[in-house]
Amino acid sequence: MTDFAGLRAVVTGGASGIGLATAKLLASRGAQVVVFDLKPEVAGPLTGIAADVSDDGSVRDAVAAAALQVGGIDIVVNNAGIGAQGNVTANDDDEWHRVLDVNVVGIARVTRAALPHLRKSDAAAIVNTCSIAATAGLPNRALYSASKGAVLALTMAMAADHVREGIRVNCVNPGTADTPWVGRLLDVAADPAAERAALEARQPMGRLVSADEVAQAIAYLASPLSGSTTGTAVAVDGGMQNLRIPAA
Ligand code: NAD
Repeated sequence: MTDFAGLRAVVTGGASGIGLATAKLLASRGAQVVVFDLKPEVAGPLTGIAADVSDDGSVRDAVAAAALQVGGIDIVVNNAGIGAQGNVTANDDDEWHRVLDVNVVGIARVTRAALPHLRKSDAAAIVNTCSIAATAGLPNRALYSASKGAVLALTMAMAADHVREGIRVNCVNPGTADTPWVGRLLDVAADPAAERAALEARQPMGRLVSADEVAQAIAYLASPLSGSTTGTAVAVDGGMQNLRIPAA
């Protein structure tokens, strides 16, 4: 498919996991893709720019550099995110501010820097990587869930604010996706293989979601093929959020 031919995309957190899968997929379908990441070590045809979404100056510089390099911006995938464990008592104020700053304010920073470019595009789309944590009531994810709840609300608000400008805004809600992030969590378990098997067994499909599957949904929402879709969250969660199945 070449449905992204002529389109220019920025993918934040694009050096790993879901972001990297998305960047590669958009490029394979004809987009010019610029990856923003703390360590933007990406191979051709992707372009990497060092950017920290929690630093406004860094974001503004990166957006300006990206627009200069590829001649504009049509698509922004706000995917960079970090995790936090524990219930509401587990994290101090600094940690709350740090996670919200990356996961929520980061989206606002990148979006406001990119909006002047998106307004010039005939195919403007923003896709935010949210999570089923936004609404699922996951145990031991209080701060992370709060951040993703905010991402969901922000997605809907941005969709409303910019619909008349021809800028579509949607999000994806992955379930547990098999990325380096989840790998890192498993690696600190006493028995990583057993922990992975238990995690898979808890999934309705008996397996984790792949980064490529999430990327396919992001690509759909970023593509002119979804031209009438805005203000929507697409779950890619193996049925985790909505299915009620007996434990195996
Ligand atoms: P990952 O750790 O593999 O990749 C995240 C990338 O974001 C990394 O390359 C990292 O360097 C980058 N990043 C982190 N902080 C940044 C910052 N301040 N500025 C720029 N880049 C930064 O993780 P992933 O699993 O691919 O997660 C990507 C997104 O998907 C996140 O928003 C996460 O919340 C969301 N998500 C993941 C899962 C999952 O199970 N993996 C589930 C639901 C949602």
